[in-house]
Amino acid sequence: MRVLLTGAAGFVGSHLCDRLLAEGCEILGVDNFLTGRRENIAHLEDHLRFRVLERDVTVPLDVREPLDWVLHFASPASPPKYLAHPIETLLVNSEGTHHLLELARHHGAQFLLASTSEVYGDPMVHPQVESYWGHVNPVGPRSVYDESKRYAEAITTSYGRSGLSVRIIRIFNTYGPRMDPDDGRVVSNFIAQALSDRPLTVYGDGSQTRSLQYVDDLVEGIIRLMDVEWSAPVNLGNPEELTVRELASLVIELTGSASVITSEPLPDDDPRRRKPDITLATRLLGWKPRVLVRQGLARTIGHYRERLSQVGCP
Ligand code: NAD
Ligand code: UDP
Repeated sequence: MRVLLTGAAGFVGSHLCDRLLAEGCEILGVDNFLTGRRENIAHLEDHLRFRVLERDVTVPLDVREPLDWVLHFASPASPPKYLAHPIETLLVNSEGTHHLLELARHHGAQFLLASTSEVYGDPMVHPQVESYWGHVNPVGPRSVYDESKRYAEAITTSYGRSGLSVRIIRIFNTYGPRMDPDDGRVVSNFIAQALSDRPLTVYGDGSQTRSLQYVDDLVEGIIRLMDVEWSAPVNLGNPEELTVRELASLVIELTGSASVITSEPLPDDDPRRRKPDITLATRLLGWKPRVLVRQGLARTIGHYRERLSQVGCP
């Protein structure tokens, strides 16, 4: 099984590489290192079934060898990163997705799109079920991400209707080892801040909620979905919902940090709440998340601590 994986040097992509290699796959990773890091895949450098090409997937790729799967994970995912790279984000999810669908069609490969719970925007339906169409501001700052992912879902579905085997996952907030401590997302920020006894920056009053999924659970759901016939979007997330303020307190408790909590302004259009309805994934894949947020955070903190002792920063 030969797999082309875009975004291989990113947080999720690098974990997917580990799992696919363990399953015996050969991986052709593609990444332009916009938000990914070489160190995420440094341990795979000498692996005989792993290669990485430094390419921007908004430019068509010419791959001569046969491909069985094309998995499209390339895209900034952290709000500060996609706001810093708005056009790149729009293009990787629009033109990038189009080129990769063409590549999959050329090779007769199965295609998977990494979409997002952000397609639900600031949801009016709670928890979010796949049949909900969402509540997205088409011209707000986050639209570069939300709307381009919605386009990516639309074009993937259209290729699916014309015969390509496609899968679409809507990923809810996922965390774990190898998250870039500087990428600005809530879990990486809070852990990095707590480990250096700096204040934890809660945006707004901290009453907004998120449901946090440990990365191993996501990877398990992806592998299972590739093995069933299902082309419509599937939520993959952990329904364990908590407020951002509760998360801050939990990180302080688990790190034993002396940090305090401070307030900073709430970013524009920050969704009020988010929680996946995973009935479909459970029925279709026999899947549900196994890692409780407390356990997953403890593992992630352990990883950040190790890095801190090795390289002086998490
Ligand atoms: P990440 O930023 O760590 O990884 C994204 C990777 O894509 C990086 O290595 C980056 O360099 C690469 N990339 C970006 N633009 C590219 C381009 N034009 N050409 C080639 N490579 C490019 O983010 P992540 O958290 O690993 O997210 C991976 C995917 O999962 C993204 O598509 C994201 O939208 C989706 N997703 C993630 C989450 C989450 O909570 N982590 C939630 C929802 C959706
Ligand atoms: N957030 C926060 N402090 C931070 C980073 C984020 O309070 O240092 C909040 C952010 O406003 C949002 C939630 O945490 O309400 C999740 O943010 P993140 O950027 O991780 O992901 P999002 O779900 O917004 O894409």
